[in-house]
Amino acid sequence: MHRIISKLPLLLVVVSFASCRSVSHTVSSADPMLQPLAFVQHSAEYKALCYQAYNTARFRLDEILKEVHEKPLAIVVDIDETVLDNYPVDAKAVINGTSFSEYWDTWVDMGVAQAVPGALDFLQYAAQHNVQVFYISNREEKGDEATLRNLKELGFPDADKQHLMLMDESTAKQPRRDIVLQDFDIVLLCGDNLADFATVFESDDQATRNKAVVDLQADFGTRWIVLPNPVYGKWKSALLQHKAARVDEVDYMKAKLKDY
Ligand SMILES: [Mg+2]
Repeated sequence: MHRIISKLPLLLVVVSFASCRSVSHTVSSADPMLQPLAFVQHSAEYKALCYQAYNTARFRLDEILKEVHEKPLAIVVDIDETVLDNYPVDAKAVINGTSFSEYWDTWVDMGVAQAVPGALDFLQYAAQHNVQVFYISNREEKGDEATLRNLKELGFPDADKQHLMLMDESTAKQPRRDIVLQDFDIVLLCGDNLADFATVFESDDQATRNKAVVDLQADFGTRWIVLPNPVYGKWKSALLQHKAARVDEVDYMKAKLKDY
């Protein structure tokens, strides 16, 4: 699965209607997923951020292509919310008051995810310049064929088993990056979760992650290209510490707000 945090079924605000089947399709205004999903699915700003990320990647790649490299060049990308848009799964979970995990396997098998804005043009541009693309994702191995079909039908380059590295025994991505590094110079990495870039960001400790992002600030926009994901990710599990079910997240996050 592409997410670590497990979400318990959403309790609805109008609990007195809980036995009524139709109520399960009512979206609670308190659902913390609602606003971030509205942002990624409807705002022009979300799309602009994605284009900004991939435009930056292209500028950097043009510079990198002028340099001398000993090994062939590679770009490593995450899949979910980096090149493929799976937010319809989260939307379905919010609408039905349940967890994305109920729909995830079916969604992967359908292979109908659309491309994240800018991803396809950038990776096709990279391929035209003989840069190979490796897809390092924490999707499960059982979804490999459907994932490749989805990527291929959209026109993504290198959508084959040699370039697809799904989750093995661990969610850690460095061992898979190390395999690529044996034969390639990884010149850019793209991801929506900082764990897509370096091991230090696998941490669930907020202070560790925030210190690392300051220490490594020079890498953002130069080697590492970050896509926005306000819906889910390591940032959220680090904040919630796996304590809160979705219905409790609003109060939990409110208690964490910094005012003046
Ligand atoms: Mg991702």
